[in-house]
Amino acid sequence: MESILVLTHADETGAILTKASLEAVTAGIDLAARLSAPLAIGILAADATTLTKSLPSAGARILSVSGQAFAQARYATDAAAAEALCRAAQATIVLAPGSSRFTRVAAGVAHRLGGFIDTHITALAGTDAVEASRWFYRQRIEAVLSRDARPWFLLLDSGAAPAFTAQPGAATAEEIAVALPEARTNVSGFRAPQQGAQTIRPDAPLLFVAGAGWTKKQPDGQVHTTEAAGLILGFLRATPASLGSSKSLVDQGSEGQSVLPFLTHLNQIGQTGATPRHAKGLSTCCHGEEPHVVGWRFIADRRAISLDPNCGWSRGKADVVYIADAFQVIPRVNALLEAAKP
Ligand SMILES: Cc1cc2nc3c(=O)[nH]c(=O)nc-3n(C[C@H](O)[C@H](O)[C@H](O)COP(=O)(O)OP(=O)(O)OC[C@H]3O[C@@H](n4cnc5c(N)ncnc54)[C@H](O)[C@@H]3O)c2cc1C
Repeated sequence: MESILVLTHADETGAILTKASLEAVTAGIDLAARLSAPLAIGILAADATTLTKSLPSAGARILSVSGQAFAQARYATDAAAAEALCRAAQATIVLAPGSSRFTRVAAGVAHRLGGFIDTHITALAGTDAVEASRWFYRQRIEAVLSRDARPWFLLLDSGAAPAFTAQPGAATAEEIAVALPEARTNVSGFRAPQQGAQTIRPDAPLLFVAGAGWTKKQPDGQVHTTEAAGLILGFLRATPASLGSSKSLVDQGSEGQSVLPFLTHLNQIGQTGATPRHAKGLSTCCHGEEPHVVGWRFIADRRAISLDPNCGWSRGKADVVYIADAFQVIPRVNALLEAAKP
């Protein structure tokens, strides 16, 4: 019989479990119910007491590893903690969020336990055997994996399951002792990008895509790149949107043309870019060609602003297309957003 362990960790405040951890908890509860297998949840945190209380009705054995050494992500301590939790739970299946913290250590821990790991899992199924889905080749091929190797580590992509929620209640965790290796790495602090400088926000409800039109000559015969940059950043300041780009726009930098300084290839959406999972998308000054729109596969509610009534968006790729000048529309949208701020 399988024995399932869900590994979770606190967020950077240390006060709550991360959303991705709670998603893994839901996936673990579902899988345990389907396989009729015992479930354990392992918590890695500086102080797991409050975090344990957020898991009262999960129907799981709760294990925790606590201490100042786990307040921050660090390979040596996190790997030792995860290994101790896996050994204590005698887990054959280990589910964990694909967070940067666990992605860094999970393969190493799987190796220490003689197990196997698969990453970017988007769904779990199966009643007799575990079937894990993941995408290959830029989201074109979906594979369903099953393996005999145990323990089998599965790192879940965010959004693979709804986050577990429950009224906080009485629950206690078994504290697992960890033999820590001698620490050679000290975390001296964090350097985060300035507020607002981070334009890729995977958890944002809205994707705002900037296309090459923002830097093209406008009806007055001039380019207005500085104005475009101000309008796009204004929109991002007023909404929690994530910024995507077409390939043409990000390529322009390397071709010596007028560019938006905050865009890199990491912002690129499409066949040779990202395929994000925002609930809604707004495309601006972008033609909506297939190699770009293929990156919108998971975005259900789509709108576009384009000057071209024959653009790809109007040919069935968007729900609503505004045939309009984005240099006129976005300032008004930004003003409305500012006015609506509490
Ligand atoms: C193998 C391959 C892989 C590719 N992969 C990708 C990929 O991953 N991602 C990607 O994006 N592309 C990709 N492409 C390129 C893709 O085919 C398009 O060339 C690209 O998406 C076009 O970018 P764009 O729509 O921003 O620019 P353009 O085609 O130049 O379109 C600009 C649009 O802006 C509009 N516009 C201009 N001014 C305004 C204004 N003031 N208001 C409103 N609208 C305005 C214009 O009407 C026009 O429709 C790939 C191509 C190939 C061959």
